[in-house]
Parts: sequence; structure tokens; C-alpha cells
Amino acid sequence: MEGREARLGDIIDDFCIKCKRIMNHAVVSTLESQPAKVRCRTCYNDHDYRHEQAPPPKVDPRKAALFQEVLEKMPGSGETEPVVAPAKAKSKKKSA
Ligand SMILES: [Zn+2]
Repeated sequence: MEGREARLGDIIDDFCIKCKRIMNHAVVSTLESQPAKVRCRTCYNDHDYRHEQAPPPKVDPRKAALFQEVLEKMPGSGETEPVVAPAKAKSKKKSA
């Protein structure tokens, strides 16, 4: 690791929380020649450099499923932004 200085604009691999995988990131802030903050080149999400580590899961699957159920039952909650948006989120509009 020594001798490897991160510079602003460098493209490095890091775990993107939004993409939920290792993605290319641009260094947007450095600290002692190490990446401090990075920006995902795919979704442009800024976050602290995670050293390519995935965050520990916060919710257990059962709770997540319950939460999802509640969301789906919510009447006219306006815009429901999917947390996990695949690249092609915009498909044909369907009025149900
Ligand atoms: Zn991303």
C-alpha cells in the first residue's frame, strides 16, 4: 500500500452503497494521501471511502420484507423511490 498516493480525480475501486457492489469511483477528497471521499462513477453518489468493504447488513430479511409490504400497501404515497434501482428503471408507464 505504501507509495500509492491518491489524488483528486483518481479512479479507484470501492463499494458503492447504492449500486451495492464494487464500482469505479473518483476520488473527491483525500486525507494524508489516502482517499477520504469518493464518488461513484455510475450513480454519482458521494460517500466516505470504504476500502472496498461492504457495509454490514442493517436490517434482517424478514424486517425488510415486512417493510416492503407496508410500502406496497400505502395508498397514494406519491413517488415511491425504489431503494434498489436497476440501471433501467424507466420503463413504459403503466396505470393500474
Ligand atoms: Zn453507485
